[in-house]
Formats: sequence, C-alpha cells, structure tokens
Amino acid sequence: MNILIKNGIILPMNAPKGEQPYFCGCLGVENNKIAFVSSSSQEADKFLALHKDDCTVIDAAGKVVMPGLINTHTHVAMALLRGISDDVPLMEWLQEHIWPIEGKMGYQEVFDGARLGILEMLMGGTTTFVDMYPYEEAVAHAADLAGIRAVVSPCPMDFRMEHFETDWRKVNEFIPQSQVVTMMMGPHAIYTLSDKNLERSISLSHELGVGSHVHLAETETEDRDARAKYGMSPTEYFQKAGLFGTHTLAAHCVMVDDRDIEILAANKVSVAHNPQSNMKLASGIAPVKKMLDAGVNVSLGTDGASSNNDLDMWEEMRTASLLQKVATMNPCAIPAYTALEMATVNGAKAIGREGELGILTPGAFADIILVDLEKAHLYPHTNIISELVYSAHAQDVETVIVNGRIVVENRKCLTMNAQEVCSTAQKHIDELLNK
Ligand SMILES: [Zn+2]
Repeated sequence: MNILIKNGIILPMNAPKGEQPYFCGCLGVENNKIAFVSSSSQEADKFLALHKDDCTVIDAAGKVVMPGLINTHTHVAMALLRGISDDVPLMEWLQEHIWPIEGKMGYQEVFDGARLGILEMLMGGTTTFVDMYPYEEAVAHAADLAGIRAVVSPCPMDFRMEHFETDWRKVNEFIPQSQVVTMMMGPHAIYTLSDKNLERSISLSHELGVGSHVHLAETETEDRDARAKYGMSPTEYFQKAGLFGTHTLAAHCVMVDDRDIEILAANKVSVAHNPQSNMKLASGIAPVKKMLDAGVNVSLGTDGASSNNDLDMWEEMRTASLLQKVATMNPCAIPAYTALEMATVNGAKAIGREGELGILTPGAFADIILVDLEKAHLYPHTNIISELVYSAHAQDVETVIVNGRIVVENRKCLTMNAQEVCSTAQKHIDELLNK
C-alpha cells in the first residue's frame, strides 16, 4: 500500500543542531518504507501521479507528522496487573505482590495482558516496544496480530530456566514469520541470575546474533548486595562477565557512579531511562544528564504498567525532562528536543536500528504518527517542540502507521477491538485475584 501525507507539520528528527527541526510539507510511503519527505507540494503531486490507482491520501493540516515513539523498556503483559499493588518498595512489591500472581499466569493471561498494553501504546503513538517477560512467545503473537513493532526478550531467571529454554526456542521459530517482531536475550538482573545462568544467556546471544536487554543498577539494595557478594558494582560485574560483548540495552541505571558511566560509554551500552517507574518505586533519580554528557545513548521506557501505572511515552518525555531539571537544579538539563530524541532516534539506536526507525527519512521504515494540534491545551502555536513535550497527551495522537500499515485512524484502532480487549483483561484479573 502507498500513503501520501500532505499539508502536515513535518518533524523528521534529523535536523542539524541549531536549525528549526520542523517544516510544512508532505511525506510519501511506498509499501513499508518512507519514499520521500519534502517541503514542496510538487513532490506530493508527482508521488500521487505515480501511484494514482493505489494511494491513501491523508490530509495532515493542523497536525504534526513525526516518527512513532519507541518504548525501550516494558513488561507489556503487566498491564493486566495495573493497580493490584501500589505504594510499596521494589523488593516487597516484587516478592509479596507481583511474583505470586505472575506465578498463576500462563500463555493466555500473558497474551491478553499484552493485548491490553499494546492497545494503550498504539493509541498513544508508541510504534515500537522492547519487552521482557515469561511467555514472550505470547507477547510476540499479540504484537504481530496488532501490527506493532516489538523486540521481545525471553528472560532467564534462576527459578524458571526450564521455561526459559522453551520460551526462547518458540520465539526464535516465530520471528521469521513476522515483519514486526524481533528478539533480544533478556537476562533479568544480577539478583535473579547465577553466574552459570547469566553465562547461558550471553552464549545464546552470541549464538543467535542478538543483543541483550537487562535490568541494571535499579536500586540501592541491588548495588549494595552486588558489592557485598562480588566486591564490585552491578555494572562492573556484567562487564566482567562479558555481557557487553554483544549489543546491550540496560534498563534503569539509577545507581551508577562515574566509573560505571565510563564503562557504559566505552562499551556502547544503551540505557533505557524509566523516570516514572523509578519515582513510583522510590528507586532514585538516574544521572541522565551526566550519562548523556559522557556520550551514553539514553532512551526512554515506561517499565511495566504496574509500576508506572500507564504506558504513556508523552508522560515519560515530560517527566524525564522535569526530573533532571530539579535533580540538577539546572533548567537547561534535558531540553524539550532532547526528550523527543530520547523517545525516537535514541530509542532506535538502543535496539540497533539507527537510521531505520525513530526518524522520517527516505528508506527508513514507515512508523509514523500524526498528532492533532487543534486542542485548547496546545494553543497558541509558538513552539511546536515545546507543545509536544510539555503540553501534549497520548490522547492527542490521531493516526498511527507501523511498517506502512495504518493501525490507528482518527483515534480508532483498526487492528484490535478495544472493548473486547478491555473486557477480556478484566475477566482474567478477576479470576487471578480469586485463585
Ligand atoms: Zn523492568
């Protein structure tokens, strides 16, 4: 299918520093890739003449046309557990509330929980997410059916290695059948993996040619325990174990010191910053400004919906910016455009897809969103970047295209029945809480 988007405010996320990053223009999609991006309406006419029998035309007047957002750390099926436990510390939250109920979840619960999270993300303009959970095969299926791009990470943990061995094989078999699902290994965290099981994960990532997606330096307890047990920080431990020998995406990195940041930068480890989850679990404030200044690629994630409690990347952008300002007492820390980069181009880099995703340029995959600016909370129009980061909501996203396919049109999801997704999720959680 071909798509022509015209009369829009194009925000391609590749403007040279110092230049206005958006312009009025048009954009063409051929099959699943961007064919052209231009400020000239003649280009639109040419494209239309070329594809006149097979072209969907979208009039984007009053709308921003920008890359879809990339959520680089979540556990999407935890949408099912939204609100079951709030206002407790991380380890208590995991051990007493989350893990017991997760132990009762099987393929179907994960599949339907993932569908709920995916629906929320698509409706808010997220076109790619990076996941980690048991039964990643179910998440892969749900993502493929909904038409959202997903990087699923089968997740070794000491108490479920047998399940992991089945899970990664099923995901690996499924990947070639999907245009939107890819895989990373998901070694869960230093505190859930023995040396031997971490080694197994690292050797699999080499064998399969995929990167690793890990929780790293999330809390003070994790840092203290690692230093007591191994005599080094979690970052130093993973480096020593050889984890960073393949492409690595590390979620959180709240408790990283200067030495750790040096290691992350030198090993080209990307960091998924999850400001709202870190705030809600009182884990602390990741030194994002310091990491960016040191050359670390920092992207954004929501984490699971039970520690956030939504999957709204607009809120993460705003929170990331505001939190660094207050943490450093510097209003210039994380300007609005940097927050947008973290949610788009940096996200693409974090999953090894730089230049292919998170950017509107010819040859890139057509993952595009249209944001409606005709709203009172976005008026008057003086600085579009400021409006998007400091004022916009997920509900302002009107149309979503993933891999050249329109999946949300005029705020209606075309690939999922929203009512059915929500009622199925309700049925599951009612049953799980009564089991
Ligand atoms: Zn997480």
